[in-house]
Amino acid sequence: MRAPAILTIDLQALRTNYRILCNKAGGAAVAGIVKADAYGLGMENIFRTLRGEGCALFFVATPEEALALRGLDNDVDIAVLGGLLPGMEDVCIRNRIVPILNSLQEVFLWQKAAQNHGETLPAILHFDTGMNRLGLGAAETQNILENRQQILERIDLRGIISHFACADEAGNPMTEKQYARFSEIAHHFPNVPKSLANSSGLFRSDSYCFDIVRPGYALYGGNPVPEQSNPMRPVVTLHTKILQVRDVKKGESAGYGAAHVFEKDTRTATAALGYADGFLRSGSGQATLYWNGRPCPVRGRISMDLVTVELPMDSRPQPGDMLEILGPHQDIDTLAAACGTIGYEILTALGKRFLWEYI
Ligand SMILES: *Cc1c(COP(=O)(O)O)cnc(C)c1O
Repeated sequence: MRAPAILTIDLQALRTNYRILCNKAGGAAVAGIVKADAYGLGMENIFRTLRGEGCALFFVATPEEALALRGLDNDVDIAVLGGLLPGMEDVCIRNRIVPILNSLQEVFLWQKAAQNHGETLPAILHFDTGMNRLGLGAAETQNILENRQQILERIDLRGIISHFACADEAGNPMTEKQYARFSEIAHHFPNVPKSLANSSGLFRSDSYCFDIVRPGYALYGGNPVPEQSNPMRPVVTLHTKILQVRDVKKGESAGYGAAHVFEKDTRTATAALGYADGFLRSGSGQATLYWNGRPCPVRGRISMDLVTVELPMDSRPQPGDMLEILGPHQDIDTLAAACGTIGYEILTALGKRFLWEYI
């Protein structure tokens, strides 16, 4: 009752999305990408739901996230995308965390840890195929392919991966190039599980799916194929309360900087939602909220805790009535576009002040 804004996370929709992705991936295993607190939706609930669907491999970004996940489950496979920094070896070994080795330096570090422990250690190799972000570069890759026995001695290779840069753009030639490059490398690892596709990748071609796919965004309801209608179910709904309704006169302004001047007499509502809740300030004068399904454009600047919208003139909502931010009339991709960003950022910025409800 006290929280003005209510965020609903539909775990049934998450389940459905996981199944849709399993279907789409053919025989490939569908891993759960749960980095950044499961894209801002809460690692624990998301993890338990995916685990319940049979998901057995999870990717996180940092060792801290891996430890949090290990705290929830003793058995699942956990891989850390950020790689292996010096000093992390023991934590990984003790908690059975599989590092994704992004450079030869990391491979040697892990090799050394294996020697010290007198055992083989599990790892995934990340080959860069064009992203130039993380991953083994061309020279390092060549080196590994030529001296594999020696370089990968004591490493129990659990998988090789690469990552698409442009899979969200239909027909972008970069994707096919990366696929070709990855296939070349994959050829040298016949018995090792291979993984290339993120959410968008797995919708672009069946051949991109290999043995494991790594969807994040699509699981959480984002559209992996922006040029088409969204094949995924929405997971997140967000509503907030109107605090005040007012009638402003032509020529008056709203909010900080008096950034919006009304061209006619206008009814407005001010609602409890601001950039501190992840309602990005870049949506000022751009984003739209919905009242009873009717569009209410944001007027003036979004402030820390508040936003003012224009109401339809014939509407008369009361304080306490709800405005829709995410729901049947607006999905994360649409809101993101209005704020000049991507749905990923909308999700990972979702506020801590909301009443969080999992259904
Ligand atoms: C974040 C990430 C993914 C998931 O990407 P989505 O676009 O959210 O599906 C997959 N692989 C890697 C390496 C990532 O960093």
